[in-house]
Amino acid sequence: VYDRTPLIAGNWKMNLDHLEAVTLVQKLSWTLSDADHDFERVEVAVFPPFTDLRSVQTLVAADRLPLVYGGQDLSPETSGAYTGDISGQFLSKLGCTYVLVGHSERRTIHAESDEVVQRKVKAALEHGLGPILCVGEGLEVRQAGQHVEHTLGQMRAAVDGLSADQVADLVVAYEPVWAIGTGEVAGPEDAQEMCRALRAELEDLYDADTAARVRLLYGGSVKSGNVASILRERDVDGVLVGGASLEVDEFASIVRFEH
Ligand code: PEP
Repeated sequence: VYDRTPLIAGNWKMNLDHLEAVTLVQKLSWTLSDADHDFERVEVAVFPPFTDLRSVQTLVAADRLPLVYGGQDLSPETSGAYTGDISGQFLSKLGCTYVLVGHSERRTIHAESDEVVQRKVKAALEHGLGPILCVGEGLEVRQAGQHVEHTLGQMRAAVDGLSADQVADLVVAYEPVWAIGTGEVAGPEDAQEMCRALRAELEDLYDADTAARVRLLYGGSVKSGNVASILRERDVDGVLVGGASLEVDEFASIVRFEH
């Protein structure tokens, strides 16, 4: 049996400039150290906008904060004529541990296809970043009862061509689109149903050992009031938090979900 360290990840989206980022990270680390948070037991990651990463890196290194951080996206390419894009190579050099890939806002607003998402997952791994692959269905798919099939299909496409060792480094975040930023939260049993199905699919595609190593997160209107019940589910190994990660006290309460 694998002991999967819970991962609490805060996706800031397009919020907080680099000065605000420094303030938030400092306050977060003070709040968590005051509360005696055990960073060995629960991993905490933040996903600031690209322009904040250098400041976050400096702060984390200077104060030896036990926080990790990552980018919200990356290019499938390594370098070259891709105006406006950011290479995984740059993110690694800035000390990023993770990178979000295929967030539903990228899939809808930037029309990212499953094929692009797959290339980004591969690029992340090649640059030593842990991809946090986001999958999940929209409301119509859920209402048609096709949510499991749809979400498993997105994951299958994204891991195409990856070895078992590569997949073991992956984190998969189940984020039903209808629950993102809407205040609508999937029930703990919905999160468990999907995470169980994702793990079973990984077992089919790879093997039981690999499937047991992959961390599966739930995301969609997670708050301090609902996090504990979600994380009590057997196959849910963490949460991806949007809105609530911008408020220090709220995010710190989420991180301390057992208290
Ligand atoms: C997200 O953007 O990944 C997310 C889960 O957002 P929110 O928590 O605001 O629903």
